[in-house]
Amino acid sequence: MTDSLTHLLGIAPLSPAHITSILDLADRYVDLNRRQVKRSDALAGRTQVNMFFENSTRTLVSFEVAGKRLGADVINMAMQTSSIKKGETLVDTALTLNAMHPDLLVVRHPHSGAVELLAQKVNCAVLNAGDGRHEHPTQALLDALTIRRAKGRLDGLTVAICGDIAHSRVARSNLILLQKMGSTVRLVGPPTLVPTGLGADVFHDMETGLKDADVVMMLRLQKERMDGGFIPSEREYYHRFGLDADKMTHAKPDAIVMHPAPMNRGVEIDGELADDLTRSVIQEQVEMGVAVRMAAMDLLMQGRAAKPDGVMV
Ligand code: ASP
Repeated sequence: MTDSLTHLLGIAPLSPAHITSILDLADRYVDLNRRQVKRSDALAGRTQVNMFFENSTRTLVSFEVAGKRLGADVINMAMQTSSIKKGETLVDTALTLNAMHPDLLVVRHPHSGAVELLAQKVNCAVLNAGDGRHEHPTQALLDALTIRRAKGRLDGLTVAICGDIAHSRVARSNLILLQKMGSTVRLVGPPTLVPTGLGADVFHDMETGLKDADVVMMLRLQKERMDGGFIPSEREYYHRFGLDADKMTHAKPDAIVMHPAPMNRGVEIDGELADDLTRSVIQEQVEMGVAVRMAAMDLLMQGRAAKPDGVMV
């Protein structure tokens, strides 16, 4: 990496060179992960603590698998039974953990900015595993790796990100990354779910939004972040914005279908299309997730080795 990173808090602070070096190393970890013995000692002797203040299936398991394959000691903090439930603040919890000298903290939190706040209080590397509707950097990196492997490049592509953009940290991180790498991003969805001013063209119908797209990325309706009626009904939403084989005819014939999951089949995507391996790369996204997280943690630790005090930049 050109200049080393201290934390991975978002895509915004990364340069194209940072992104490329994470993806290049992740490609090598994909090969390792396909071997019978999936073991490296890049993080041997390192302690990784996963703190998830919000539900997760893929991301938590993915970070745990990634750390273990790199030889780290991985601890999953059970947030439901932690002292946060007794009223301890996030910062106090972070300081307590910090005193145990972890090397990596992987944090998911419902509030935008909470992970960055925590990063300011500790002297180990912090990885943002999703903060509110702000950023989810490893998701965007794994999406980029999936796209690069399918299309051979990340520049000059047209990527339609569709659905609930307003509440999605995945959309935000992908938009930043894909634009940095030279692709054109379109945001597609109903006016209630697509904010303006994000610096991308906005479309309110799937036909024009998907026209000649190379990549169609669907998003989940983030009901847990909605406090009102954003759509008339799920049935109506599926009819207008749910992705099926019919709507895919507007995209390029070799366009790929992506979804960060969890999916709501029959709400934002047709189940059959999601399972169609000639078009859908949704399972591959999960595979790329482990490799990208291995690469990100490896590079962060390499950067820390160059700065033994963990001095923040
Ligand atoms: N798993 C992704 C996230 O944590 C996407 C989603 O929940 O819809 O943001």
